[in-house]
Amino acid sequence: MLDNISSVEDRPLRLVDLPMPVPERDQILVRISACGVCHTELDEIEGRVPPSQFPMILGHEIVGRVDALGSAAKKLKRGDRVGIAWINWTCGRCSFCLEGEENLCETAGWTGKDAPGGYAEYTVVQEDFAFPIPDEFTDVKAAPLLCAGVIGYRALRLSGMADGKVLGLYGFGASAHIVIQVAKHKYPNGRVFVFTRPHQKEHQDLARKLGADWIGATGDTSPEKLDCAIDFTPVGEPVREALRNLQRGGRVVINAIRKMTPVPELDYAEHLWHEKEVKSVANVARRDAQEFLPLAAEIPIVPETQEFKLEEANEALVLLKEGRMRGAGVLKIAE
Ligand SMILES: [Zn+2]
Ligand SMILES: [Zn+2]
Repeated sequence: MLDNISSVEDRPLRLVDLPMPVPERDQILVRISACGVCHTELDEIEGRVPPSQFPMILGHEIVGRVDALGSAAKKLKRGDRVGIAWINWTCGRCSFCLEGEENLCETAGWTGKDAPGGYAEYTVVQEDFAFPIPDEFTDVKAAPLLCAGVIGYRALRLSGMADGKVLGLYGFGASAHIVIQVAKHKYPNGRVFVFTRPHQKEHQDLARKLGADWIGATGDTSPEKLDCAIDFTPVGEPVREALRNLQRGGRVVINAIRKMTPVPELDYAEHLWHEKEVKSVANVARRDAQEFLPLAAEIPIVPETQEFKLEEANEALVLLKEGRMRGAGVLKIAE
């Protein structure tokens, strides 16, 4: 668990024994088998997205099995395999919730930030916020689908990508390497251009293996204008770069909860004129998880994963921060 805002390099997560959580009313108790390691944990630890209380158990890409049910929980049964994602609860009554944009609900709570998350052996969640995991996936391979995959799917949906178009991906980590597989499946005549940091050879090799049509460095001019782009990076510069390479009328979607450096000043004529758009992706709705998980099984998407033990969580986060994680990091907590 995390006791306070800290630096990731200080390896701030502590392994502690806690009482077993008890599921109330419509909640379920989940015995966790795997939990993905996400960039948002870096933002939480370093205070860009601080947890709402301390200590907090981080982690929001949870795969496990239902171990017990609250008195009013009816939809699942003991032993069912479920996933828990970033969205942990919503008010269910505001205009956003009523329109299926519950990801924007002002009183929503987020797993591993407002409610204890998956860097643990057990957790509880309302049954409506637990999603069935298709049989095609192992626990470890399913974990990164629950954040990197679900939010990547949302970003791709919001980007306006269509068959025959050119999609630019800035950054090629956990989310982008899933998005490229979805894009290649849904848009067989579309092309995907990938931009990474120049030294990220492993990311570039993976992009090539997954069918990238062109690979370059952030800062390069793309061989053709991008009809749409998704920026997955934790820094500001790629937003301007994506806008510079963008086709008229195109859209850049920013898939990041916070940026570690500011988006640099934009030149209106070069970066925004001709109806270019910038849009951020905030959180995920249940619908994104419900649509994406079966699609991922159908494609099928096989996330590249690097496994760690629960007690190695600090090391995994340092690797992630340094951009040295290959694919998605996953804590393997139980069989
Ligand atoms: Zn995440
Ligand atoms: Zn709401």
